[in-house]
Amino acid sequence: MPGIEAPGSVNWPSGPGRASDVFSQSFPFHAGRSWGRTAARVTDSVRALPHVFASLIINMTFEQLGLSQPILQALGMKNYNTPTPIQAQAIPLVLEGRDLLGIAQTGTGKTAAFGLPMLTRLLADGTRPRAGHCRALILAPTRELAIQIHKDAVALARHTPLRVAVVYGGMDYGKQQAELARNQVDLVVATPGRLLDFKSKHVLTLSRVEALVIDEADRMLDMGFIPDVRRIVYSLPPKHKRQTM
Ligand code: AMP
Repeated sequence: MPGIEAPGSVNWPSGPGRASDVFSQSFPFHAGRSWGRTAARVTDSVRALPHVFASLIINMTFEQLGLSQPILQALGMKNYNTPTPIQAQAIPLVLEGRDLLGIAQTGTGKTAAFGLPMLTRLLADGTRPRAGHCRALILAPTRELAIQIHKDAVALARHTPLRVAVVYGGMDYGKQQAELARNQVDLVVATPGRLLDFKSKHVLTLSRVEALVIDEADRMLDMGFIPDVRRIVYSLPPKHKRQTM
């Protein structure tokens, strides 16, 4: 799994308890040991990435990065004119179907770095899910973040047939349930607890998910969501049959 650390990104501590150790010990993607080795190597190798290389790719436009036309059109309407550094680095890799670990502060465009190529891939594939299933999943630690991601994803998918739904705890239970049960939803943005609730009640089946994004994974750890994330990951197709970001 390649990893990206955007210029100006969070400076993770390098001593015991650093972020890569937490990821390697806690994230459950299949064989924990192989995930651990990969994540640690990635973070170390990213530190060695020459910044001159980063600045070369950063000068690219969204068109050059290979996003599909309806997504480019939506980007124009949102006034996203230039890819941010993490977007310039992540988009080509995600479009190739690679797994990715990205480390960058809030406000650097990290969510779109995963979301834009994910929407492009869903669009290129052309298949539609059955009601009660979804093709892609973005997990977020808080209701506020889930709502924000959903809002952005809806705007970016506005010129496509892709449908995006959001599920989060605390309110709108019946409305969220009806949205999943009645419609062909391609992408679900969710907080872990409500998602598990819908999964256990068979409102949403996760066995056909092609792509998983864990947004703000460090906050998921801090907020104690790892058991929930683990249960969700185990409900998905195996690691080699889905993309993980
Ligand atoms: P994030 O780092 O994902 O929380 O994104 C921070 C904010 O930047 C969000 O409100 C996005 O809508 C916005 N954003 C993301 N990418 C771009 C871009 N290339 N140009 C302008 N704004 C962007």
